[in-house]
Amino acid sequence: MEFNWSKNNLEKLKQDYINLKKENKFQNRKKINQELKMIYEMENILNSSEKSFIFLTAIKYIDSSKFLPKTTLTNYLNIPDFIRKWILNASKILHNFEDNFNSKSSLKMNLTDQELVELSYDFFNWLNKYTLQINNFLNPKQKLLKIIHSKTYSNYSGVTYPFHYPSYQAYILLKRENTIIDFITLNHELAHGIYFEKHSEYFLNYSYLTELEGSFFEFLSLEFLKSHKIITPDIISELDYHFTINGIENIIDFYFVYAAIMTYKSTKKIKIEDITLKLLKHDLPFFINESILSNTLQNNPKNIAKYALSYLVSLDLEKLYLKDPELAFHELEAIRHNFSLSLKNLLINHHITFMEDYYTNLKEKLTTLQLIKK
Ligand SMILES: [Zn+2]
Repeated sequence: MEFNWSKNNLEKLKQDYINLKKENKFQNRKKINQELKMIYEMENILNSSEKSFIFLTAIKYIDSSKFLPKTTLTNYLNIPDFIRKWILNASKILHNFEDNFNSKSSLKMNLTDQELVELSYDFFNWLNKYTLQINNFLNPKQKLLKIIHSKTYSNYSGVTYPFHYPSYQAYILLKRENTIIDFITLNHELAHGIYFEKHSEYFLNYSYLTELEGSFFEFLSLEFLKSHKIITPDIISELDYHFTINGIENIIDFYFVYAAIMTYKSTKKIKIEDITLKLLKHDLPFFINESILSNTLQNNPKNIAKYALSYLVSLDLEKLYLKDPELAFHELEAIRHNFSLSLKNLLINHHITFMEDYYTNLKEKLTTLQLIKK
């Protein structure tokens, strides 16, 4: 069975959106335009050979020793102050960080696409949640899931495209790596498919939490694998390590952006030496060079903040889940679907504590994985 999107469905969707744009009476033009752009991107993916995917991407970072892309600076400054502080404070927790994990086992797993999808069905049955939506997403006849096998296509391992008109429907793209990570990525994207329904992407400050369900479902996928003994403990700890490093990298990247902007502000230049000094001064054991900096500054800092904050919030939810799974889901839904509170109050009211307990769960995670020097 092949998992692919349908050309006709996309064509129809495109026509619907073009008509909506023409009608003009519609309130949320920005949203219509954003979603229309996604349709073009999907058509591009559907029509191109697997070797030549082109994504709508970022700004080019030209001269890394001098130049700070203006959009990077503006986007950074637009991030609410308290979010910047939360992430930067988290970077301080990493001052004893030591990446000393030796990968022993291989994550390779030879599942067919069909078997992979069945494993995801099992996962959602085990959760005993969202099974109706999942039936819809995973049924090949619905043509909502596209799976590709391509070595050249990089950047993303999974993408979810949510459409809200005429009614809500999400499309999912999954790139197979033929490792057990495929299973976790698929669940991550399916979680987005479920949680994007309520438009949170468009509520400015709440968009910093749109990766929350992604992170949380990665954790849940690991719990599923543990409890079903599908993979060995060695592989479990390797996965745990892999996803922890992924989460932490966003915190580190955010620190790099901050450091670059600070040195730019004082000297009108970005010099690697200045950033290295800053790292030393704060006792942060991270290495940076021109190419790391250039790559980091090509990302939108809001995006980095989104992944970093979602990760921090997810760690607290994970802790809650281990005590009371139902409450954790209740809080996840409350956080992702309540747009009436300030973001700060929203988190504090729903069991998110990292900002008040000095990132206890992050510290504990690093200690358990022995990523912190004793
Ligand atoms: Zn995601």
